[in-house]
Amino acid sequence: MRPSLLDPLFAAAATLPGIGPKNAKLFDRLLDRPQGARVVDVLFHLPHATLDRRTRPKIRDAVPDTIVTIHAKVTEHRAPQSQRARAPFKVLVEDDTGDVELVFFLANPEWVRARLPIGATRWISGRLELYDGVRQIVHPDKVMDDEEIARLPPVEPVYALTEGLYQRTVARAAEGALKRLPRLPEWIAAETIEKLNFPAFAGALASMHRPAAPEDVDPAGPAATRLAYDELLSNQLALLLMRARMRETAGRAHEAEGVLGRRLETALPFALTGAQAKALEEIRADLRSEKRMIRLLQGDVGSGKTVVALLAMADVVEAGRQAAMMAPTEVLARQHFERMTSLAAEAGLRMALMTGRDKTSERRETLSALAAGALDIVVGTHALFQDAVVFADLGLAVVDEQHRFGVRQRLALAGKGAATDLLVMTATPIPRSLVLAYFGDMDVSALREKPPGRQPIDTRAMPIERIGEIVAALSRALGHGARAYWICPLVEESETLDVAAAEDRAEALRLIFGDAVGLVHGRMAGPDKDAAMERFQSGETRILVSTTVVEVGVDVPEATIMIVEHAERFGLAQLHQLRGRVGRGAGRSSCLLLYKGPLGDTAKARIETLRETEDGFRIAEEDLRLRGEGDVLGARQAGAPGFRFARLDVHAGLLARARRDAEAAIARSPRLAADDDQNLRLLLYLFERDEAAKLVEAG
Ligand code: ADP
Ligand code: MG
Repeated sequence: MRPSLLDPLFAAAATLPGIGPKNAKLFDRLLDRPQGARVVDVLFHLPHATLDRRTRPKIRDAVPDTIVTIHAKVTEHRAPQSQRARAPFKVLVEDDTGDVELVFFLANPEWVRARLPIGATRWISGRLELYDGVRQIVHPDKVMDDEEIARLPPVEPVYALTEGLYQRTVARAAEGALKRLPRLPEWIAAETIEKLNFPAFAGALASMHRPAAPEDVDPAGPAATRLAYDELLSNQLALLLMRARMRETAGRAHEAEGVLGRRLETALPFALTGAQAKALEEIRADLRSEKRMIRLLQGDVGSGKTVVALLAMADVVEAGRQAAMMAPTEVLARQHFERMTSLAAEAGLRMALMTGRDKTSERRETLSALAAGALDIVVGTHALFQDAVVFADLGLAVVDEQHRFGVRQRLALAGKGAATDLLVMTATPIPRSLVLAYFGDMDVSALREKPPGRQPIDTRAMPIERIGEIVAALSRALGHGARAYWICPLVEESETLDVAAAEDRAEALRLIFGDAVGLVHGRMAGPDKDAAMERFQSGETRILVSTTVVEVGVDVPEATIMIVEHAERFGLAQLHQLRGRVGRGAGRSSCLLLYKGPLGDTAKARIETLRETEDGFRIAEEDLRLRGEGDVLGARQAGAPGFRFARLDVHAGLLARARRDAEAAIARSPRLAADDDQNLRLLLYLFERDEAAKLVEAG
């Protein structure tokens, strides 16, 4: 059980000052805690920047893409001209050197007029941008009069927000959360503290939430580094403990001659590639042996992992056991199921789908069939590891696109059977150096070779100003039956703005292409999302405008065109994933990266790399290198997937040390029972590696 010392941190966030019943929901959303945010979530929501109000340039001297505080007079209000709800309200302000447009989307015009009356002089803080040569501040962070600015601290933390929340509300809650932090013992080895010059845990959090200078929130600074280390250490401990536990129970040998596998292979419209055959052989060797399999199947998008998994599952079924495949989203689970089900039927495999949206009666039927052994394979979402799901005899758990799940779920699924073998599949080609961070030391099989017949994807970059030509080319391609994705990017700090951008783009394209245009985004309800995907899959719509929700795994072989708007805002690996959505069928595919210039060196290097290669592993290495060179990502991309603090671009160097410290601790006291090591249990609970902590509590 979690030590009571930590209880104050796991109380509801709604008990913090400034969080009432109404904005509690907003905090839940911001902190990605649909079940209710806790104090610890607020505490761990670190500022990604500061507002340094000591920078108060004249407008002429203000540097674009930095946060500035200007002192300017309001000269004009420009209400939206069209009736379109999403056109922004603009306010023109100026000083004696130049002018700036303040841009408000979805704002209440009355509020804007009252805050910024014509003729008044105000202090305005926010990120200055150049948009078509016009200086703009979109949604200023602060609009203040002389009195208000005098009361503010010179340096303030800047937090990622969600629509409807304000900096001051989050800052106030964070301040409250800091006060709830109990006095905690040190869990990092003294030698590491000294060597890396770490501040204490509490001190690190305090200096980030109450920065005295912009450097205090730097991800490479001492405070952020300490917290990243805490997280990596807890992660490595958890991975090591899990591994020890999984290896404790010897595996079972699955005796199969490969009869079902051969039937499946005959039914396949293609032959396995050499890489697939090799991976399958490695997996089969594990399945046949007494050793418990813990294996990672790594392969770029489209490299054909699913078939390999299906063939592995067939062996386990032939040995008289069951197999489960878990996907991170409803759409993907459904897609896997639909793709495998007819093939499986040919080999006589009984397969069912289980997601969070099944009808109760269907669910009940599936559950009892699973428990009775009347089903061989179940495909599903996280619905699969609920307590109600009981297998007659689960022999193999396959987890697709794993880094969305994390260790906890992986173990939960594998724990549903006696010595269940585990196969984790990832489509993110993670560089070798990072496999350890995500997966611990698993055995690795990699599919580096693509199925034959794929043509290279013609990748080009173009400035967004040439959108007219692009639309004309798209129109010609659609005339020849093509299908296209059109991706709209993340807008930093606001999901609503993302969605607005995608909706606007869809609306603009509909003026030209009418009903051929579909739209899918993260705010849509699950069934609507599926329906939009299905319309695109079936060809009812020919252009799918989307935010990055299509990034993971969705397979529409007929789609041959990928257009990415504001490509300069995406990371290299992400662009590669997006591009991987096309080039899956036999048709010639192209990828158009639309950018808004001028491009920085890193953005140029990214685009150049993409044009040069389609090798996901190479791209991943390059991505890491480019990010390592100080390219600052947007707030929402800050943490590596599955991590809150650790950014593997910045903190990868800490990993080996965290690993060593974790190994040393476990070698000293396998159940973390020694005095010093008990502090590590606390760490596990603090970072919610509860399952791992429980493994050591028994002893
Ligand atoms: P991944 O899951 O690795 O992204 P998939 O398993 O979805 O890739 O495979 C992508 C596509 O390639 C699918 O349409 C699949 O049927 C096809 N495919 C898989 N293996 C082969 C192969 N050996 N030869 C030809 N096509 C293949
Ligand atoms: Mg896949």
